[in-house]
Amino acid sequence: MTAETAPARTPDLDTLATRIADGERRALARAITLVESTRAEDRAKATALLQRLAGLKREALRIGLSGTPGVGKSTFIEAFGMSLTAQGLKVAVLAVDPSSTRTGGSILGDKTRMERLSREPNAFIRPSPSLSELGGVSRRTREAVALVEAAGFDVVLIETVGVGQSETMVAEMSDLFILLLAPAGGDELQGVKRGIMETADLILVNKADGDLKPAATRTCADYAGALRLLRKRPEDPEGFPKALMVSAIEENGLAEAWAEMTALADWRRETGHWARRRADQARGWFEAEVRQGLLARLTEDHRTRARMDALGAQVAEGAVSASQAASDILAALEKPHEKP
Ligand code: GDP
Repeated sequence: MTAETAPARTPDLDTLATRIADGERRALARAITLVESTRAEDRAKATALLQRLAGLKREALRIGLSGTPGVGKSTFIEAFGMSLTAQGLKVAVLAVDPSSTRTGGSILGDKTRMERLSREPNAFIRPSPSLSELGGVSRRTREAVALVEAAGFDVVLIETVGVGQSETMVAEMSDLFILLLAPAGGDELQGVKRGIMETADLILVNKADGDLKPAATRTCADYAGALRLLRKRPEDPEGFPKALMVSAIEENGLAEAWAEMTALADWRRETGHWARRRADQARGWFEAEVRQGLLARLTEDHRTRARMDALGAQVAEGAVSASQAASDILAALEKPHEKP
């Protein structure tokens, strides 16, 4: 944005920022659309908006929630979200679903999901934007989290289907990370990746009701046992991470799950782990932005991109070494308008 165009846009952004700070959901939705846009002009606005709102220093409890399709994520989030709004808390739900690129539509964007919660005045639900790669989804989600925090939400649930790296990405932008599982048929752990087990603060075994109750009890005991074998993390009080049973349909165990989440969050706040994690995340975000900006310059500047293609071909032929080619490109980035 040039100095001449900036003042003309400022009132717009100021109004939008004020409306977001007042917790207006339509303004919030508009702002999220702005951060989702890849147009350079919108990027500049989104950055300016986020900078204006950062001064509010509002903080929500960011809860990452992962689970494979069918475990009951939307049923759980709706019931859990309703139990929080009933306590007067403002709840935002953001979905991360990079896999939806394959189907071209957003699985998590299904309008019929969470009908009750979506009508709740103290709730805000934002489906996953379809398309785009993980890096883009990650940036947009982080920015959307910052926006809902500025809008005064108390709890942000960041939901993801455990596909590819999306779980790790969500865990990295959350204060607490929850894994939702369904009761297993046998007694084997459901192929949950060890890394994800190690990231989870709470494992919730859903569908602990009716005929599934015995299986849920077994599954929960199996996970509790597996969690005890994990290396103790400094950011955990005694007894964490935990496995609990819930039934989203019967709305059982939700209060207990919330009590565990707040106990853990309070402990981390008191011991300084919370602030440290947030600081690390903020630094990681900044570094990711720099990396992404550099990559964007590589692909946006047509001369650099052409040079990259040409060097890529030479590297493929073995005419130039990969490291020499990379070093040439990085040098060109420093002076993008000089012909390398
Ligand atoms: P998602 O794909 O993870 O979002 O799962 P859904 O919330 O769409 O639920 C998948 C299926 O599991 C649906 O048929 C739900 O009715 C069912 N389900 C969800 N929660 C429970 C529960 O607590 N108990 C039982 N018995 N079924 C549930």
